[in-house]
Amino acid sequence: MVATTALLRDLVAGWRRDGLSVGLVPTMGALHAGHLSLVRAAAVENERVVVSIFVNPLQFGPGEDFARYPRDLGGDLEALDGMGVGAVFAPRLEEMYPSGATTRVRVGELDEVLEGARRPGHFEGVATVVTKLFWAAQPDRAYFGQKDAQQAALVTRLAEDLLTGISIRVCPIVREPDGLALSSRNAYLSAAERKAALVLSRALSRANEACLAGEEDPGRLRPILQRELAAEPLAEVDYAELVDPADFRSPGRLAVLAARFGSTRLIDNHLLGVRFETSPSG
Ligand code: AMP
Repeated sequence: MVATTALLRDLVAGWRRDGLSVGLVPTMGALHAGHLSLVRAAAVENERVVVSIFVNPLQFGPGEDFARYPRDLGGDLEALDGMGVGAVFAPRLEEMYPSGATTRVRVGELDEVLEGARRPGHFEGVATVVTKLFWAAQPDRAYFGQKDAQQAALVTRLAEDLLTGISIRVCPIVREPDGLALSSRNAYLSAAERKAALVLSRALSRANEACLAGEEDPGRLRPILQRELAAEPLAEVDYAELVDPADFRSPGRLAVLAARFGSTRLIDNHLLGVRFETSPSG
């Protein structure tokens, strides 16, 4: 495990001198099979893999769950054991945000809608920490999950706009056998909420069936999502939209959902027209 950017930089510089490629997997820890799928993808494409574990306060809003976000560094290290990870970068808060660090990174447009509109400052926090991680780890490739579709699009934009030369790889959503997308926040759900949360994947799957059967009009697919969600009394829907994955703004085939189950806010998405799988291969 590496706790400082200085040590990480030295380690990576050594690898680079030896001509080895480097993949970075940024996480906030409490690792589950979704995270591990990114690590696996990184290990296939790179000779060395860096996994970062850092619960980034900057991407949590004032009323959000920063304080209670699950933290389990011991369990995370165990989960990564044997996966061929070259370094686990687990910095302390002061390492990532030395006092006086006021620089912020903002990606325009994509950060104004959906998650960006509902969670002011969230994407600025994400963009800032990801930029720092890119500088610290200097990877050839960085791995993100389609689970956070808007974040993945935003990071792809950031990597291009800042001329990083880093290739952003977006990996498929890993789901429980019953369809629930894996998330560290699922740990907050009561048994009843866990059951209710299945409405997200069910709604996506229903809309997908309609799409595969020939319905391509977002104006007709959206009510399918909404009808399904409305039937679940424990779901307090934040948004259910069909957007273009290029801008998350104009109508399109990416179905994006956000809903609260008790105090837990969950998101999910699916590109309609593509087979809905609970366990992607690989
Ligand atoms: P987090 O620790 O929640 O910040 O997530 C770290 C990375 O894992 C992000 O790129 C997420 O999109 C990705 N991720 C989270 N859940 C899943 C999942 N169920 N399937 C695939 N990737 C995921």
